[in-house]
Amino acid sequence: MRLISLLVCSLLVSSTLPALAADEKVDLALVNKIRDEGTNRSKIMETLSVLTDEIGPRLTGSPSLKKAGDWSKAQLTEWGLQNAQVVSIAPFGRSWVLEKAAMRMVAPSNLELVAIPKAWTPGTDGVKRGKVVYAKLENDDDLAKWKGKLKGTIVLRDAMTPTKLHTTPDAKRYTDQELHDLEHMDLGGAPARPPTDMAELAKRMAFAKKINPYLTEEGVIATVNVSRGDDGTIFVAGGGSYKQGEPTGPSALVMSTEQYNRVFRLIEKKKDVEVEVEVAVNFGDEDPANSINVFADIPGTDKKDEIVMLGGHLDSWHAGTGATDNAAGVAVAMEAVRLLKAINFKPRRTIRIALWGGEEQGLLGSRDFINKNVAARPESTDPKEKDLPSFMRRPTGPLMLKPLHGKISAYYNLDNGGGKIRGIYAENNAAAKAIFDTWLAPFHDLGAKTATLRKTGSTDHVSFDAVGVPGFQFIQEPMDYFTRTHHSNMDLFDKIQKGDMMQAAMVMANFVAHTANRDELIPRKPMPPEPARPAAR
Ligand SMILES: [Zn+2]
Repeated sequence: MRLISLLVCSLLVSSTLPALAADEKVDLALVNKIRDEGTNRSKIMETLSVLTDEIGPRLTGSPSLKKAGDWSKAQLTEWGLQNAQVVSIAPFGRSWVLEKAAMRMVAPSNLELVAIPKAWTPGTDGVKRGKVVYAKLENDDDLAKWKGKLKGTIVLRDAMTPTKLHTTPDAKRYTDQELHDLEHMDLGGAPARPPTDMAELAKRMAFAKKINPYLTEEGVIATVNVSRGDDGTIFVAGGGSYKQGEPTGPSALVMSTEQYNRVFRLIEKKKDVEVEVEVAVNFGDEDPANSINVFADIPGTDKKDEIVMLGGHLDSWHAGTGATDNAAGVAVAMEAVRLLKAINFKPRRTIRIALWGGEEQGLLGSRDFINKNVAARPESTDPKEKDLPSFMRRPTGPLMLKPLHGKISAYYNLDNGGGKIRGIYAENNAAAKAIFDTWLAPFHDLGAKTATLRKTGSTDHVSFDAVGVPGFQFIQEPMDYFTRTHHSNMDLFDKIQKGDMMQAAMVMANFVAHTANRDELIPRKPMPPEPARPAAR
């Protein structure tokens, strides 16, 4: 075994931190093995093909999420991982499967319309035909104005969205300058974000709750929003509530921009527009175990009670097959542990892969794992609090640490699309950044070289960071994630680049293996401060 030491940015290593970067070891023999297996015998595209083309979209609560869970458990076991298990994160809510959606304009002329229902909205109970109207429904005055006038109609909910000529490519990779800027922070640069106006937010949430019962009572057949995409791309996520017992309203669809605009222009010209629509959905059986996490281990040796975790989220939205969001992250994490098993890597700490459910509904899977095993606050007894998004709830008491809190060295997450890894967000953890700089060195030639102190959000590492356990998300190439695939009907296998996925799996395996075998846990930041009480609502 050949070891090298790399000296990185000594300015970052203060005297109060343990000796870090200068002593950090990179096991190049291990790197060689990972790169050989990951380059020459990769199975990552097979994994992605099963998750996307075969299993398809994996909406939280749906039978296909469970199918993906059962399949990944079996696959991880076949690769030699131990204790593979599918764990329920009940209670979740309704199951929902889209069976059919067809919409066509039948007057003033015929046109097949491309429109996809929002998740958890109901079907139309057969083919329905109705007049199309544009109704702005944004406040109580609007509701009063349209009262009694919407029966049997298809309601357009948005104004027209002008499209723009594309003069730049959809997909991009980071330039060296952009990565430099990502690493080097200008502390005076970015203006502070104004705080969320909680009172205004609460008002808007209260109004939103009135809409579904109003539309049902008025006898609306279906509602249609315009997609923010174009060129055949429809961005569509949830619409109805996935919680049992809440009103779903009528069918709610999202239509391709150009077609929506045509319908809208005809209405503006006072033409009578009629549409035929049929949506069939299946709310499925009542199954309390309908949302899940999947775990599997490579057991450790002399430090087996300590854990290194890696993962992505298994759930997706329903219009595509969740290829970049987030079959990519799942397949990379699965390939990373497959690589380590294939080269017979013997970790000192236990390596645990976690494939989360319910990420898209608010990091439900990772939060469930943290609450049950790592750290939790007392449950609120106020039913009104349970209705609110977590950032609006009043703290119920101090964070109580559970057995795993001190045992998890780090969690590494991948959930920013199908691009390769260009580095890692160190989440303001200077000690971790210094370590990561050394581990990235043998992957500079594959484009992974930037460890930034910046934080990033919106995915499952946040659940760990929030309770003081090191959790990290890698920096990934932007590709066409936000322009084309994120939560859209174009989130398909074709949008995945094989070379990017192979590289990501090798970098992830390298981080996990080095975290498993270093003498100490990854150094931690101070515990996060106890949250202040939210402003009055
Ligand atoms: Zn995601």
